[in-house]
Amino acid sequence: MGKSCIICVAITGSVPTKAANPAVPISISEQIESTHEAFEAGASICHAHVRNDDETPSSDPEKFAALKEGLEKHCPGMIIQLSTGGRSGAGKERGGMLPLRPDMASLSVGSNNFPTRVYENPPDLVDWLAAEMIKFDVRPEIEAFDLSHIFRAREMHAAGQIKDTPYVQFVMGVKNAMPVDRAVFDFYVETVKRLFGDDAEWCAAGVGPNQIVLNEWAIASGGHVRTGLEDNVRLSREELAASNAQLVRRAVEIAERYERPVATWSEARDILRLRAPT
Ligand SMILES: [Zn+2]
Repeated sequence: MGKSCIICVAITGSVPTKAANPAVPISISEQIESTHEAFEAGASICHAHVRNDDETPSSDPEKFAALKEGLEKHCPGMIIQLSTGGRSGAGKERGGMLPLRPDMASLSVGSNNFPTRVYENPPDLVDWLAAEMIKFDVRPEIEAFDLSHIFRAREMHAAGQIKDTPYVQFVMGVKNAMPVDRAVFDFYVETVKRLFGDDAEWCAAGVGPNQIVLNEWAIASGGHVRTGLEDNVRLSREELAASNAQLVRRAVEIAERYERPVATWSEARDILRLRAPT
């Protein structure tokens, strides 16, 4: 058997609505229920955004606190990763939930285009978010939308702004950002190993129909995977995904095919050198 594979479920995101797929969890109680099912299916990290009642994105720390409390109760041990990226804008409200001390938070270290806007991550905001993560003992996941973001993570690590070896996620297939390209993917993997060592952990996410493509590439190449309704609401061209858990099960099947055991939450915490659950 190969090394264990961590499955991260990105349950909600800031974009998909119930009009796109009624299974997208919006309220905190829907998010907890959807995550619980995904946790039982094999996910060990929950990547979460929160929403307002009208489905617009929110960065309200109280909503994040309620979600975190519910997940700790119903999915004990699961790694909680809160998003600092979901909302447009470049203000410090994006990091307002970090004092909650989630296990992890996403950290975008550079800017790029999104389908309809600039995903703005100015250097002073990035530096502040990284400093808050150190202050509150939150392990960042570096969202690499571009090759330069991997190099920026190395500079920040060398400067002590990122404490542990950066855990990089390659995000591919977002319109106007890096497309899904096999040669680029291979170069990303090679670059992470060159900069951070052969045993550096990394993961990958693909958007829309490319979710399953990136799941397979990452599993076959020794990385970890992200799935979930944030990135993709369909099971196939014709069929909507019934739940986050269904997308997790699809990733589990690929892992089985490549003889990679799916990491339990406890193994995932060891692999990522995270503290024991609270
Ligand atoms: Zn996200």
